[in-house]
Amino acid sequence: MTDPAPDRRLLIDGRLTGAKTTFASLNPATGAVLGHAPDAGPAEAEAAVVAARRAFDTTVWATDRDFRVRCLDQLHRALVDHKEELRALTIEEVGAPHQLTAGAQLEEPIATVRWYADLLPAFEFSRDLGVVEVRGGRHRRWVEKEAAGVVSAIIPYNYPNQIGLAKLAPALAAGCTVVLKGAPDAPLVTLFLGELIAEHTDIPAGVVNVLSSSGAAAGEVMTTHPDVDVVTFTGSTATGRRIMAAASETVKRVFLELGGKSAMVLLDDADFRTASMMASFMSCSHAGQGCAICTRLLVPRERHDEVVEMVAQGLARIPVGDPADPATYMGPLISERQRDKVDALVRRAVADGAKLVCGGERVDPGFFYKPTLLAGVDPDSEIAQEEVFGPVLSVIPYDEEDDAVRIANNSAYGLSGAVFSASEERSVNVARRIRSGTFSINGGNYFAPDSPFGGYKQSGIGREYGLEGLAEFLETKTFGAPA
Ligand code: NAD
Repeated sequence: MTDPAPDRRLLIDGRLTGAKTTFASLNPATGAVLGHAPDAGPAEAEAAVVAARRAFDTTVWATDRDFRVRCLDQLHRALVDHKEELRALTIEEVGAPHQLTAGAQLEEPIATVRWYADLLPAFEFSRDLGVVEVRGGRHRRWVEKEAAGVVSAIIPYNYPNQIGLAKLAPALAAGCTVVLKGAPDAPLVTLFLGELIAEHTDIPAGVVNVLSSSGAAAGEVMTTHPDVDVVTFTGSTATGRRIMAAASETVKRVFLELGGKSAMVLLDDADFRTASMMASFMSCSHAGQGCAICTRLLVPRERHDEVVEMVAQGLARIPVGDPADPATYMGPLISERQRDKVDALVRRAVADGAKLVCGGERVDPGFFYKPTLLAGVDPDSEIAQEEVFGPVLSVIPYDEEDDAVRIANNSAYGLSGAVFSASEERSVNVARRIRSGTFSINGGNYFAPDSPFGGYKQSGIGREYGLEGLAEFLETKTFGAPA
């Protein structure tokens, strides 16, 4: 039987193209086939890397800032003009609720492109270091920031627009050339970005290449090829480790945004009702498929049962259903495989002694899983240590503030966190003692295109967004000349 024709195409060296075979992308809200994507293998990945190297070495992309500003403007314009098509595809392929596309699933990523386009004209690519005297000679020194080179960008399925553009926009602003690979479970959204670039911008051939693949072989070429200078990866910590090892052979710069198991700490003077409501809604954001979600809720032991009750009330109020319905807050998990993984973790948590308060059930058709609450969770148990990536919240009792900090830090991860207290000062002091890259204080939002985002410990290396996000794609060259 011949493969179905692809619904979208790869972008390699300025050409929109298919591959020898295709693979299916499913609509997770129904389980039905949504479309087919080209299955890029090592040959397509090699062609994309070679094109990106050639574009970096032989075009003005890396050195002509004004041209890059113009192209980023065009990319932003194309995204704005095609926003509704991309919204529909993101809802269908990723299972992202319509509500979420007003934020992190679509509108915010488009704003990120705008932010880097606006930053670029005035960005200081050089810095004067003044004069030094060495053995009687006077020397003038300065530093120049240059594009780091060819970038391999590998992304997960959960927020493909957000993560794809959080890599693409600063890499292009810096003057890098890019091979971007979408996730096997959400290939079409990322291919759509490639088509916009090919059809609506003057970005030269080879500067951006976009691949989709069902397996790891294309990604392996992207992380080992000697022509690649930087690997930027967002995904699981397990894959991040493999990528770091693979890239070490050619000593690439590796930038990793990995998993999380973040804690929300309710201090004894917190507004428990507000915090419980936020914890319940946050745990079900995109059905729990977010790296920075607080999936451990730490509460004073004597308030444990009361908080569990309030969180359960919050979870019962969450509108779960068709992601295309603007009233829906929570849609499906991405796949049956992911649902099996989540369900197995919940079963094992109960076997480990956690109390299943609500949820723990599949809902068909599609890959839905009910909002799930586990109470009395042991901070050392698997459910408190492993990333679940499903709508599952674990309530962990603590005895005193130091104990809460110790439990929050009892994790291989360090991506995000939250603290609630009547006193902002108290919240901030606790947040400072917890090792993670971002923090919400009393329900505050930190997320924006200019806010650096990333993890401590095994949640990653480097920062996305903001000036730090641009720095990941810049090299530093230091000059000295007779004064
Ligand atoms: P994943 O690690 O399974 O896959 C991510 C990407 O890596 C995919 O494109 C996949 O094809 C590719 N890949 C797999 N093996 C590879 C290899 N050997 N070489 C090169 N590429 C390879 O992750 P996922 O299941 O798609 O996404 C969920 C994970 O992503 C969670 O762990 C989540 O915490 C993490 N995540 C982190 C952040 C962050 O910013 N820290 C954001 C979103 C998601």
